[in-house]
Amino acid sequence: MSLTLHVDEQRWRANLAKVAGLAYVPGRGGVVPVAKGNGYGFGLARLAGEANTLRADGLGVDTLAVGTYDELDAVADFTGDAVVLNPWRPFAHRVGDQLIHTVGRLVDLEQVQGRVLLERMTSMKRHGFSAAELKQAADLARERGLQVEGVSIHLPLGGGYAEAEQLVLDAIAADVHQTIWVSHLSAAELTRLREHYADISFRPRIGTELWLGDRGALSVSATVLDVHPIKRGERFGYRGRKAPRSGWIVIASGGTAHGIGLTAPAAISTARGRAATLAKGGLEASGRLRSPYWLGDQQLLFAEPPHMQSSMLFLAGSGQPVAVSDALAARVRYTTTSFDRISFD
Ligand SMILES: *Cc1c(COP(=O)(O)O)cnc(C)c1O
Repeated sequence: MSLTLHVDEQRWRANLAKVAGLAYVPGRGGVVPVAKGNGYGFGLARLAGEANTLRADGLGVDTLAVGTYDELDAVADFTGDAVVLNPWRPFAHRVGDQLIHTVGRLVDLEQVQGRVLLERMTSMKRHGFSAAELKQAADLARERGLQVEGVSIHLPLGGGYAEAEQLVLDAIAADVHQTIWVSHLSAAELTRLREHYADISFRPRIGTELWLGDRGALSVSATVLDVHPIKRGERFGYRGRKAPRSGWIVIASGGTAHGIGLTAPAAISTARGRAATLAKGGLEASGRLRSPYWLGDQQLLFAEPPHMQSSMLFLAGSGQPVAVSDALAARVRYTTTSFDRISFD
């Protein structure tokens, strides 16, 4: 009855160990697993447990990153430290010995307490200090007796070695370069940085490549909940739309509440296309919408936009294509899908 994420446990864990192993150089920093949002499809609590396993395996995993302060409770089982990626603000009322705040404004640095990571602004232009501010921040942090855990550099996807190197120089100039936390560098770029700056520990923060790095270890299935024959011109669905041809209405588990039918805005290139997508919740209005459900190698069409807990699909033809309780394969975006069940096989 469920939208289920199937995990080939052995293969999935092998990728975790591989990525964590590649990122770890004893004494020079290990991976900081990122567990945020929907937990990359797995849920935050499960990722916290997996991070504990990596930690116990001696792969240098002593810190877990979450996106927001609100996510801290969900990863409370992690036995090491937690760093929050969103910047500290005066309304972030969380403190603790095992908590590391990310700070990117001088005004915040005047108030925050405890352990801090100083974020250097990158070409992302999301959060952080300019090069000049980083120097002031380092001085202010020392003055205030804050425990500086390092400098944070969040690079755009695809990294950029030249930019990383420039930002490392800024950290050196500010004299807060013992540990630099980096995102979105390749293993080769990380190795190169470690070679160039032998006295700096680099800590790569990795989410996607770790949890979702081996897609072959993952598959998703939905269940057929109902099947009805329909004649050409016969009405169906919330809007009383007419069937374009004779065939079958198939109801499958998984709907908008699971994130089914949401598409990535990045995939739409024209301004007009983006506007239409926003207006229709990620779907076109034609009634010929490709769904994420597959029957063998046939991609199935939505009969109408997905409902909250299930989806109506349309299959043309006379022979009944599927039966109640059959499984359909689904191809979804893991970071925007809430699964009913996760099955480790
Ligand atoms: C989300 C995030 C990451 C992890 O990104 P992935 O692409 O999932 O590896 C790393 N660093 C920061 C600051 C982030 O916000």
